[in-house]
Amino acid sequence: MIIDLHSHSTASDGTLSPAEVVRLAASIGIDVLALTDHDSAAGWAEATHAAREVEVALVPGIEISTKHSGTGVHLLAYLPDPTSEPLDAELTRILNGRAGRLDDMVQRLNDAGIDLTVEEVLTQVGPAPAIGRPHIADALVGKGVVPDRKAAFERWLNRGRPAHVERYAPDTGAMIELVNAAGGAAVIAHPWGRDSRQVLDAATFSELTETGLAGIEVDHQDHDSNDREALRRIARELGLVVTGSSDFHGDGKLNHNLGCNCTDEHEFDRLLGRAAANAERSGAAVPLVVGR
Ligand code: AMP
Ligand code: FE
Ligand code: FE
Ligand code: ZN
Repeated sequence: MIIDLHSHSTASDGTLSPAEVVRLAASIGIDVLALTDHDSAAGWAEATHAAREVEVALVPGIEISTKHSGTGVHLLAYLPDPTSEPLDAELTRILNGRAGRLDDMVQRLNDAGIDLTVEEVLTQVGPAPAIGRPHIADALVGKGVVPDRKAAFERWLNRGRPAHVERYAPDTGAMIELVNAAGGAAVIAHPWGRDSRQVLDAATFSELTETGLAGIEVDHQDHDSNDREALRRIARELGLVVTGSSDFHGDGKLNHNLGCNCTDEHEFDRLLGRAAANAERSGAAVPLVVGR
């Protein structure tokens, strides 16, 4: 059973449409796929439709931008009701923050002598409600300023680089509570990748577990074998679900092919159990796993 619980489409910063991601997953033998676009459920409807026509179970999810102690932490929310009022209000605030910084980032690039317009970035964004730095990166690649997304981040877009501008993100613990109240289950994405490593130690995982965290994404390309072993131990001690996923972005992220990391079937069942318990407690209208 191949279970991949983290992927992106053109509803955020992936390069394949939601239906294309679902069909690709089915064609390479993935049994369960979660579509987890950044801060939006906009891809769910198309992905659900596609999943009904092929042999793959679809788990609707959202990768939510949060901050713990001022540092970015990505929170995977599985099966939350996206129309739950407080959750929807926070997602709108995050999306507005994404859109709101675009002018500033383009201005910073212009100040550095790069010819780029907001319209050129919006062409890359297309229908995605979540405007992200990868779209700016793609515009820069299109103009020949940098060879690929990675280079754009390293030279211009990462925190601390010349074109970086902060954006709004809610507190991680507060968001875990909103996800649970919306009947979902919350899992910290790639906890020891990039920035979040600095703020997510064992004591913090313990605190967040008391707040209602369901799991940790242990098997991810950002983690080496030592990281995975240490995170697995923390998860075991705290009773957290262990997930593994590709964080697929189409051509947007190299070395993140669908199925490159997987979630154990038993762990997946535990995750579904956590979402079901939260849904029962809150009375939220939970979206179903399609095709299972
Ligand atoms: P943003 O959503 O604007 O905060 O940008 C963060 C997103 O950019 C992440 O979710 C990744 O998908 C992507 N990203 C970050 N670093 C890189 C990189 N070095 N290469 C390609 N994509 C990246
Ligand atoms: Fe992304
Ligand atoms: Fe992420
Ligand atoms: Zn992701």
